[in-house]
Parts: sequence; structure tokens; C-alpha cells
Amino acid sequence: MEKLDKAKLRQQLTRLQYDICINKGTERPFTGEYWDNHEPGVYVCVVCGNELFASKTKFDSGTGWPSFWEPIQKQNVQEKEDRTLFMRRTEVECANCGSHLGHVFEDGPEPTGLRYCINSASLKFRHG
Ligand code: FE
Repeated sequence: MEKLDKAKLRQQLTRLQYDICINKGTERPFTGEYWDNHEPGVYVCVVCGNELFASKTKFDSGTGWPSFWEPIQKQNVQEKEDRTLFMRRTEVECANCGSHLGHVFEDGPEPTGLRYCINSASLKFRHG
């Protein structure tokens, strides 16, 4: 997050995007733009444009958040231990700019068994 210019981002992002990307918030389920998006394309970081997830790895998790079983490239995201809210979770950030994306859980489908549970507000969809 050190790389981010917060004053500039206050101008650039919506209030919801800022709350999620910078303050590590979570959008309410089934309210985001992409949880039910089935179009082919690529999801990039809303802050910096880094390519994060491909539509071919998106699946219907039933959670109301966009869910993927793997990132476009492992090195495009970074994972951090998150002990807030009396839980131990693994936070996922954009590896380029440090923007908060969501969390990754180990109850996803094959072939990885992972579930990247990502806020729509952290993403921008590029039609493929
Ligand atoms: Fe980014």
C-alpha cells in the first residue's frame, strides 16, 4: 500500500472503491457489478490496471462475490495473513500497487481447490 498516493486516489476512485481497495473493506454480497458476470474477458486492478483474473477461471460460488480458482499469473497477486474480525484469513492484494482485492480460501473447485473471493469494486472488466 506504500506505493499508493492516497490523496490522488480519493479523487480517482469512487467512495466504495476507496473503502474497499484502500481501507480493505468488503462490499455487500450480490451488490457488486461482476458477481454474476459470465462474459469472456479479463479482470484488471481498478487502481493500476494490472491483469488479475481471467473469465475462464471464474465460477459460481453462490457467495455473491466474483470467485476465481486461480489468478492470471501467481505473481500478479500477493497474499497476506489477515487476523482481523477474530478470524484467520488470507488476504489477496494486487502485487503491483498493493490495492486490497479480497481473500483466498481453500474450498474452491478443481483443479486448484482454491477460491479467490474478490470484491467487484476492486476490479475493472475488460471484454475479451
Ligand atoms: Fe493494482
